[in-house]
Amino acid sequence: MPFRFRLASTRRQFLRRIGLTGLASTLPAGRLLRAADAAPQPAAPRPVVRSRAPLAPGVFSPLPLGSIQPTGWLRNQLQIQASGLSGHLDETWADVGPNSGWLGGTGESWERGPYFLDGLLPLAWLLDDPRLKAKAQKRIDWTLDHPSPDGMFGPASNNDWWPRIVMLKALTQYQELTADTRVIPLMDRYFRHQLAALPARPLRDWGKFRWQDEALSVLWLYNRTGSPYLLDLARLLHQQGHDWEAEYAHFQYTQRITAAFLKLDQGTGLQDLSLSTHGVNNAMAIKTGPVWSLVTGAPADRDAAAHMLAELDKYHGLPNGMFSCDEHLSGPDPTQGSELCSVVESMFSLEQALAITGDPALGDRLERLAFNALPGTFNDDMWAHQYNQEPNQVECSLHHKPWVTDGPESNLYGLEPNFGCCTANFHQGWPKFANSLWMLSCEPGTTDKDGLVAAAYAPCEVHTLLRGTPVHVVEETDYPFRGLVRLTVSPAAPLEFPLQLRIPAWAAGTEILVNGRHELSPAPGAFAGIQRTWRPGDRVEIRFPMAPRVSRWFHDSVAVERGPLVFSYGIGESWVKLRDRGLTADWQVFPATPWNYALALNPDTDPTAPEKSIEVTESPVTANVFSRRSAPVRLRLRARKLDSWRATDGAADPLPQSPVATAEPEQSIELIPYAAAKLRITAFPLLKS
Ligand SMILES: [Zn+2]
Repeated sequence: MPFRFRLASTRRQFLRRIGLTGLASTLPAGRLLRAADAAPQPAAPRPVVRSRAPLAPGVFSPLPLGSIQPTGWLRNQLQIQASGLSGHLDETWADVGPNSGWLGGTGESWERGPYFLDGLLPLAWLLDDPRLKAKAQKRIDWTLDHPSPDGMFGPASNNDWWPRIVMLKALTQYQELTADTRVIPLMDRYFRHQLAALPARPLRDWGKFRWQDEALSVLWLYNRTGSPYLLDLARLLHQQGHDWEAEYAHFQYTQRITAAFLKLDQGTGLQDLSLSTHGVNNAMAIKTGPVWSLVTGAPADRDAAAHMLAELDKYHGLPNGMFSCDEHLSGPDPTQGSELCSVVESMFSLEQALAITGDPALGDRLERLAFNALPGTFNDDMWAHQYNQEPNQVECSLHHKPWVTDGPESNLYGLEPNFGCCTANFHQGWPKFANSLWMLSCEPGTTDKDGLVAAAYAPCEVHTLLRGTPVHVVEETDYPFRGLVRLTVSPAAPLEFPLQLRIPAWAAGTEILVNGRHELSPAPGAFAGIQRTWRPGDRVEIRFPMAPRVSRWFHDSVAVERGPLVFSYGIGESWVKLRDRGLTADWQVFPATPWNYALALNPDTDPTAPEKSIEVTESPVTANVFSRRSAPVRLRLRARKLDSWRATDGAADPLPQSPVATAEPEQSIELIPYAAAKLRITAFPLLKS
């Protein structure tokens, strides 16, 4: 094993290296610290499996799983997840418990077992946690050891193609992590069976609208076996699947979708209309054009993800980076909700689409979701989550809410509010983000120009191979709470290769230093490339500008941002337990303070930059970075109460058109990161200057 994780000689040294000094006095029982101390040994670096002709190559390639080890706050976040519901779900929720159909039992036999495994598996391996690995292995083994003679796998009681699409995502991850020789033969037999069976038993409902996620696994296998029938299967999935690119070429769903529009009162309603406006389906569909472009090589397919996001932003965009979907597309009012499944599926789509297209804007969006919408919809210890989160969320209760089709429990924090899909599916969010921080850049037909790409930023270490030479990168940062990212690049021997660093669109004025010397002043919204011969211990420093910014939303409201973080007014929270739910509980949250403020962003300070009237306070980056108690950055600015803006049935009334006027006195209010505020205002009316 040529490269090993260099463990610092003392705990204090290790903490200093990952930016967590001071934790010893702030953490109860040191539970998280023990996990951070025991950062796993990485496996020996493995080469990337490239696109096989005639498939088009992606601009970047994901690194093999196991190449990236999260450190610092990100590793602690994964540990919080493992100590919370993710590490115990099967002990308290029968749907993925011992009687699961995916363990040979008579219980739930559809999507929930595969959903859980799709996130549990990378979480277990990233943390090198024997307890979680054993749970995941038991599920993998049952599927691998119980195929049907005809090539099908999974519970015999349910032959739906859809849950197998999810299981294939878990199997490909498992094969990359372990090289288990049972995986590829099972996938090969299944795909041969499916190619023969699909003409008579075509994709339907969920599978029809989510075909691109299976295409990913089909192409994954083609790159490893080269069996030509797999390309026939990819084309058949495309032919039977929903045409997402056509839907967005002439996007019709520009208004809030209603139950009446879907004719839900008429039996099952208009099923295709319902499925094509369904939030999670749209989130999964973001990757469709890029995935299909691997087959066609067509630039129009590759560009389809950016076009789809632009249309979603225009008609359904919210300040947390999501589009509204509660449960169907629901317009730009920030009191509408977004389902947790749609957050994690958007992230997975963006990770795949970014690798294929090399579009840095997709990395910006990925960070916006990972640092805001994802943690914002869990309680601090990740034992409870919401089905729907709202940017302007003034109460989480059983009051009727303005959802399009979801039920009254949708924004409670709990075990399975509204419906259990998110309970099973949320686990993939953090682990897959960690696995996507770095990618490989390559040029078709040669390995001589391979390089490394920082696709998204968070503390981690990378062990990979470039042209057979092991390369180790240490990324030390408190990003997104701070603007400084330090990289130590160590090839085993001097090696020339390009290092590409994503410069977010918001980061005009970023500086990059190599070994202490200014290298370049990169353009925002692009990848900055450094081509040189790297020597062991070379240092790169990225200094992102972290001045607050203001963005415009529904009815000309304003949101305040800093780096990739969105900020909210944290309404006082009164948590009231609704009921116990096994190892966890369901909670309502009621507002304990006023929330109806309009912002005074004083253009007199600087007419071109009203955000200069915002004061920034930083505090140490500690164990739970998304907790309100330990928010590492806070903003202070001037505001006035706006008494005419109220709530109805626990939902903020539609934002008044800005600018607004009020006779209330000016006062100072504090904003905290979106995710730290479980009750929040994110889009504010703007006061007349
Ligand atoms: Zn869901």
